[in-house]
Amino acid sequence: MGSTVRDKQMQRTLAQQAVFKGVGGHTSSNIMIVIHPAPADHGIIFYRSDLDQANGGQVENAIKAQYDAVVNTTMCTVIANAHGASISTIEHLIAALWGCGIDNALIAVDGPEIPIMDGSSKCFIDTLQKIGTIEQNQARLYIKLIKPIRVESGDKFVELLPNDDCNGLLIDMTIDFTHPSIGVQTLTFDDRNDLFCEKIGGARTFGFIKDLETLQARGCSKGASLENAIGLDETKILNPEGLRYDDEFVRHKILDCIGDMYLTGHRLICKIKAHKSGHSLHNDALKALFADPHSYIKE
Ligand SMILES: [Zn+2]
Repeated sequence: MGSTVRDKQMQRTLAQQAVFKGVGGHTSSNIMIVIHPAPADHGIIFYRSDLDQANGGQVENAIKAQYDAVVNTTMCTVIANAHGASISTIEHLIAALWGCGIDNALIAVDGPEIPIMDGSSKCFIDTLQKIGTIEQNQARLYIKLIKPIRVESGDKFVELLPNDDCNGLLIDMTIDFTHPSIGVQTLTFDDRNDLFCEKIGGARTFGFIKDLETLQARGCSKGASLENAIGLDETKILNPEGLRYDDEFVRHKILDCIGDMYLTGHRLICKIKAHKSGHSLHNDALKALFADPHSYIKE
């Protein structure tokens, strides 16, 4: 039948710069980010604008949004470069860039963490949609899976499978929490039919009050509040406004998965089957993918 419409898609960047200010979910410091348009084939690159003076300039402080720059996945996805510059909690912003079809951007961050905003990708998406994107003069390259990849840890697993049905990304996510407000939730996201920004983008991160003290003692989640997360005690959801979607928890896991998987540096063409997965397994899956050059083609 010849080439599909998707094959002809061109790279995109923002029509103009976008500015966001907010609190770091882990550090609780006030952070500003400025997302600048970037040329074709640039990819998504962060840089720590607060380190310019001390560290010697933009090059030393640049960190590519790529799977092999990930240095920590304990609570969120953290990337770092060889000069020691790092940025945490990139996944909700990266997912927003994926959802808005942005291939190229240079993101200046004046602190160690991307602001948590409302705990989802919504604030980023709203502004990026308002600003809009522009088409660039280079075709997009996709990573197309041709051989299955599986990584697991205990009963958790992530499988990347060739998507023979179409040239898109399909995610089949299952979570299983004993908490009465969560339980088992399964959801499929298919980028042929589902609008990321509407179905997934507004789903917030979540956390358990019983874990908060331990996390804060370790220096994590210091900025966490019901303004930027769904909070749960032993039996119920604590947010007075309730949930944005009945199955907001599994939707947020798909959001995280999309953010983590865009660290291939390109859009993926595959089916992802994920069971109780998190940032760590998502990153393991990408490392396994790129460790086997016969598992994918770039086209
Ligand atoms: Zn998340």
